Amino acid sequence: MSHTFSVCKNCQSLNKADSDRALKGEAVCGKCGKSLSFHGLVSEVSTEDFRRIIKKSDIPVIVDFWASWCGPCKMYGPEFEKASRMDKNAVFLKVNTETEQLLSSELGIRGIPCTIIFSGGKEVRRESGAMSAQQISSLVPRS
Ligand SMILES: [Zn+2]
Repeated sequence: MSHTFSVCKNCQSLNKADSDRALKGEAVCGKCGKSLSFHGLVSEVSTEDFRRIIKKSDIPVIVDFWASWCGPCKMYGPEFEKASRMDKNAVFLKVNTETEQLLSSELGIRGIPCTIIFSGGKEVRRESGAMSAQQISSLVPRS
C-alpha cells in the first residue's frame, strides 16, 4: 500500500492519505472529513504546507516549481501529473513561484519549470526544464 501526504484546505491538518483512494478522489481529511484535493496525485501547496510535508514525509518529495505565465510550465504540468499517477513512491507537489516568491528565492530557483526532489527534508536532486512523465519518474530515488 502506497501513500502520499496532503494538507487539508479546510482545517490545515497534515494528512497521510492512501494513494489509491486519493487517485479515485475518495481521500478525506482524518480530522474534519472534507475531501482532500489532488490533480492525479499532485497537491498544490503554499510555502508553509511545502515545509510541513517535506519535513514529515517518509518517502521522497518531488516538487514542480512553476508559474502561470510560463509556456513550458503549461506543457510540463500534465506530464508531471501523469508521472504522479505512474509513480506512487513519491509525494508530488506543485509550488507557484509567483505567489511563493520568498521560497523560490530561498531555493535559488532561476528558471522554471524547475523540479526539485527532497528526501528527509533535504534537497537531493534538481532538474531544470520540462521533462516527460517517464523522465520525471526516473528521477525518484528508489530505496
Ligand atoms: Zn481537514
